[in-house]
Amino acid sequence: MSCSRRNFLTGAGAVIFTTGVATTSVLTSRDSNASDVADPAKNYGMLHDENACIGCTACTEACREVNKVPEGVSRLEINRSGPIGEYPDVEYHFTRNSCQHCENPPCVYVCPTGAAYKDEETGIVDVHKEKCVGCGYCLAACPYQVRFFHPEDNSADKCNFCRDTNLAEGKQPACVESCPTSALVFGDLNDPQSDINKAIEINLVYRDKSHLGTKPKLFKVPFKKGEV
Ligand code: SF4
Ligand code: SF4
Ligand code: SF4
Repeated sequence: MSCSRRNFLTGAGAVIFTTGVATTSVLTSRDSNASDVADPAKNYGMLHDENACIGCTACTEACREVNKVPEGVSRLEINRSGPIGEYPDVEYHFTRNSCQHCENPPCVYVCPTGAAYKDEETGIVDVHKEKCVGCGYCLAACPYQVRFFHPEDNSADKCNFCRDTNLAEGKQPACVESCPTSALVFGDLNDPQSDINKAIEINLVYRDKSHLGTKPKLFKVPFKKGEV
């Protein structure tokens, strides 16, 4: 990609295809995001900078430990594609997949019991475990395939931005805290001064499968090495 950042932003909505990943993504900007939000008290989102990510998986391990996620399932995946370039100048591309905390969450719309819900105070999509009957509708409806059944209680589970663990203690999510390269930024999209809004302002960002209308809140800074 040879366009400047300014050209990217004025051309927001252009479709790009990520290297080695079968997902379609849409470039966006802070301004286009601002019109997406439903205006809850807070509206949490996250950003993953694919240029800063080294694929160490410290984030996945911290998530597992803090949220007591059993082996065999995961709330967060770091996927590797590549190699890109020729030896010895070879690099890999790392992408994050986890709940996108969609503004328009299909998982919530299909749930027959209200177990899947979006918290209007935080914008976090979460699960009322006691209401989940294990029907699996939400797992099928999620376009990002990030939901799973917890092997211990058989209820639907996924990332909830550490809402009942680190966030409840006034800390950053475990994945953000543990990242050695500051590739992850978390914060309130309703606050113009938040770190995540500043990061979105100064970077080109895209979101996975925006064309579906889910309005995901996991923003990604695209890997530059793979640009053409
Ligand atoms: S990414 Fe999937 S689980 Fe998360 S809010 Fe969107 S549809 Fe629901
Ligand atoms: S925000 Fe918390 S639950 Fe979500 S991926 Fe990060 S560590 Fe896991
Ligand atoms: S901890 Fe940070 S650098 Fe390591 S894989 Fe996760 S996002 Fe990438």
